Amino acid sequence: MEPIIESQDNQLGKLQCNSNSVQTISEDYDEAIYQKAITLYKKPFLQLIQEAAVVHKENWPEADIQRSALLSIKTGSCPEDCSYCPQSARYETDIKKHPLMEVNDIVEKAKAAKANGAERFCMGAAWRKPPRGEQFDRVLDAIREVKSLGMEACVTLGLLNEEQALKLKEAGLDYYNHNVDTSKDYYSKVITTRKFQDRVQTLRHVRNNDINVCCGGILGMGESSDDRMKLIAFLATMDPQPESVPINFLVKFDGTPLENTKDLDILHFVRTIAVARILLPKARIRLSAGRMDMSREAQILCLTAGANSIFSGEVLLTSPLPGYTFDNQLIDDMTKPLDKENLNVL
Ligand code: SF4
Repeated sequence: MEPIIESQDNQLGKLQCNSNSVQTISEDYDEAIYQKAITLYKKPFLQLIQEAAVVHKENWPEADIQRSALLSIKTGSCPEDCSYCPQSARYETDIKKHPLMEVNDIVEKAKAAKANGAERFCMGAAWRKPPRGEQFDRVLDAIREVKSLGMEACVTLGLLNEEQALKLKEAGLDYYNHNVDTSKDYYSKVITTRKFQDRVQTLRHVRNNDINVCCGGILGMGESSDDRMKLIAFLATMDPQPESVPINFLVKFDGTPLENTKDLDILHFVRTIAVARILLPKARIRLSAGRMDMSREAQILCLTAGANSIFSGEVLLTSPLPGYTFDNQLIDDMTKPLDKENLNVL
């Protein structure tokens, strides 16, 4: 197999990858896709949901909802300044910090997640970029162990270089999560210690090593609807598009700069999910952080608008989740027919 070579003069980030196909991850969105996103976003709500439902049915006829679990394998003390994140060392928050977990402890959590129906196990570490040496090797071991359980493995470790991406691939990694969080225009309002372009470069390394891309954002950080559509247009412009698109509803942690941000109207959140479903038809749209601030009915609306995956469990990195019992019922309510017993219930 030929070595992977990134062209140095190509602003669009066209990569010559192992399969000889050309993959493109541009820092910018395609204008036509952006205009389409805006047109969809402005439609009457019912029309938008109907259009999203048609695309959903065409591309996901089995109408399932995938469950993933996400474990924070190293929490807190991160040098970055993401305004929403309680793990940044720059903010006074009450999260419980811990160093990188041992592999055996990670595997125990993965087994428990599998027993509760999770098909994918995601591991997140609060780093700007993974350190070289023993800690990175430990993550590689954890990936191998999770794979040996028959689960899909995903990690989110911050910025990667090409060599690290290759090692992750060789360890059997299925997905790398690397959210761009918001539009390129709004990015510097949320994070100043890295640039949107830095995130894009890591996404190129991930793609270049044939690892599936999990990339999405956070809504409700004070961005405009236009920013939300630029985010979706960026994701939809990627070629190939990300296989997995987490959409988070801002969790306002005390001590972070975004703790007093004005609430986003949930219908704008749902509209964004519907546009994502239409413009990223093959992606698993993941209803991620923020479910604790949504009613059961709002979550059902998100799943009706085209989200087809949830993070399940008690906690999503540092954000609380509704828990397995709630999630089991939610998924049953969405995917199972009513039986005779249900018909006798008031
Ligand atoms: S979101 Fe990630 S990179 Fe940003 S401060 Fe939190 S842990 Fe660090």
